[in-house]
Amino acid sequence: MIKQQLEKINKKIQKNCQQHHRHADEVTLLAVSKRHSSARIREAYDCGQRHFGENYLNEALEKQQQLASLDIQWHYIGSIQSNKSRKIAEHFTWVHTVDSIKIATRLANQRPDDLPPLNICLQINIDAEDSKSGLPADKNHLLDVVKTISLLPNIHLRGLMCIPAPKTDIAEERATFTQMQQLLQFINNHVDNVVLDTLSMGMSNDLDAAIECGATIVRVGTAIFGVRD
Ligand SMILES: *Cc1c(COP(=O)(O)O)cnc(C)c1O
Repeated sequence: MIKQQLEKINKKIQKNCQQHHRHADEVTLLAVSKRHSSARIREAYDCGQRHFGENYLNEALEKQQQLASLDIQWHYIGSIQSNKSRKIAEHFTWVHTVDSIKIATRLANQRPDDLPPLNICLQINIDAEDSKSGLPADKNHLLDVVKTISLLPNIHLRGLMCIPAPKTDIAEERATFTQMQQLLQFINNHVDNVVLDTLSMGMSNDLDAAIECGATIVRVGTAIFGVRD
């Protein structure tokens, strides 16, 4: 089951890349495994999947222990409470949901020196929803944040991430993802010594538009593992 779903998603990514003149290896599939068991993660791993995304710290740490012998890249994609930042800095390769200088600074200070820099993305509240965290999509404010964060040690600012509000058609999805692409471009054009190469956007339902608009990491849960309990 997982095998077929993974094949389907990977084909879909390939097809979208071809259509939009992108190389398939520009897009990384992040399998979002929250609320799915270690056994199911192992099943996906056995099919070649290496990047897994988790939202809940304790649940993630438990799975990491159970799967410690596997060569998995763990991505943290949940909300970050200050008092959880140390464990996140210690146990993940990527964090997609950084939304303040304060959290970035904590992660930088808490990232163990013997590990490679922690890859981080800034979460953008692209549809300005009260219910979602993330930095506002304000270009000048973002420039200040990026300049400050890019100077921190032990973290590598890679790009931007968003969780858009549900849209009614692909044109609306495109409009949102294009805004993200433009923000990334704007930052790259205006901050010296910073090259952002990552757009973490697109989930089970809006993958096509995201790839069309430059996504480099798509975060897919349901379409791989099925509906969560
Ligand atoms: C759960 C989750 C996903 C995966 O969503 P699906 O609709 O199941 O593909 C992606 N990104 C984030 C941040 C999530 O919390």
